[in-house]
Amino acid sequence: MQTLTLDNGVQMPTLGLGVFQTPPEETKAAVRDALDLGYRHIDTAAAYGNEREVGQALRESGVPRDDVFVETKIWISDYGYEQTLHGFDKSAAKLGLDRIDLLILHQALPSDFDRTLAAYRALEKLLADGKVRAIGVSNFMVDHLRRLLDATTVVPAVNQLEIHPYFQQRDVLDFDDAHRILNQAWSPIGGITFYPGYGEDRTSVLDDPVVTGIAETHGKSPAQVLLRWGVQQGRSVIPKSTKRHRIAENIDVFDFTLTPDEVTALDALETGRRGGPDPQAVTLADFGRAIPEA
Ligand code: NDP
Repeated sequence: MQTLTLDNGVQMPTLGLGVFQTPPEETKAAVRDALDLGYRHIDTAAAYGNEREVGQALRESGVPRDDVFVETKIWISDYGYEQTLHGFDKSAAKLGLDRIDLLILHQALPSDFDRTLAAYRALEKLLADGKVRAIGVSNFMVDHLRRLLDATTVVPAVNQLEIHPYFQQRDVLDFDDAHRILNQAWSPIGGITFYPGYGEDRTSVLDDPVVTGIAETHGKSPAQVLLRWGVQQGRSVIPKSTKRHRIAENIDVFDFTLTPDEVTALDALETGRRGGPDPQAVTLADFGRAIPEA
C-alpha cells in the first residue's frame, strides 16, 4: 500500500475504507473484508455510530494494531475544550483503542467559531499527550482555515473534503497545498450525489462518458479511474463500500497511470455543485445531535 507522509512525519496509507452510512450491523464484515484485502486505513466518525464495530473488526482480524491507521472525527455537539477531550475518550472507548492515529474535527461551526477553536485546542492537547498521532479538520473552507491558523499552533495535518470531478473545491485545495495540509477526498467516487434522498435529479460521475471512456482505455472500472485521479494528484482517498468485490476493486488502483490529458479531461468535469451540506451553514440547532456515551 502506497503511503503519504503527513506534515509531522507520520505515514498514512493513501487509500482507506470509509464507513459513512455503513450500518453498524454491516460494518464489521466490511472492515474485515477490507483488512483481508490489504486495506490498512479505516475512516470512521463519532457521528457514524459504528466506531464500536470498526474496533471489533480490527481486533478480530488479527492484523497487528500498529499496522492499521485509524481515523475518526469529533462531532460538533462535542466541541469545546473539555467536551472534545471527552469526545476523544468516547471514541477511544468505542474503538477499544488507547491511541487514535488521526483525529479530526468533522465540520467547522461558523456560527460558534470560538467553540470550534476550543475543540481544536483540545486536539492539540491530545497530540501533545501522545493520545493521537496526528490531528486535522474536515470540511474547513479557506476562511475557516485562516481563522484556525491565526488562533492555534499546530497546522492541521489533513483537511477531509468532498472531492470528485464534479466538485473539486480548487480554492481550498490550493490553500491546503500552500500550508502543507494534506487533501483527503471524501465521496471520491461521487457517492454523496447518489445516496437515496440526495441526488435523484443528477447523473452519477461514475456514468459520465468522459470517465467511462477513460476506464475503457485502461481496462479499469469508472470507480478505479476516479480513485486514480485523486491518488495521482497526491490526495488521500477513502471510498466506501459494503460489498467485498467493490472493496477489492477500489484498492486496485496502483497499477495504471492516467495521462496528463486524461487528468485534464477529468478536471474539466467540475460543475460547481456541492453534494453534501454547505459547510458555512452548519449549526448546532440543525445538526447538533448528541453522540452517545457508549
Ligand atoms: P463514495 O464516493 O465512497 O461512494 C460510496 C457509494 O458508492 C456507495 O453507494 C457504494 O455502494 C458505491 N460504490 C462503492 N464502490 C463502488 C464501485 N467500485 N462501483 C460502483 N459503486 C461503488 O462516497 P461516500 O460518501 O461514502 O464517501 C466515502 C467516505 O468518505 C465515507 O464512507 C466517509 O468515511 C467519508 N465521508 C466524510 C464526510 C465528511 O463530512 N467528512 C462526508 C461523507 C463521507 P455500496 O456500499 O453498495 O458498494
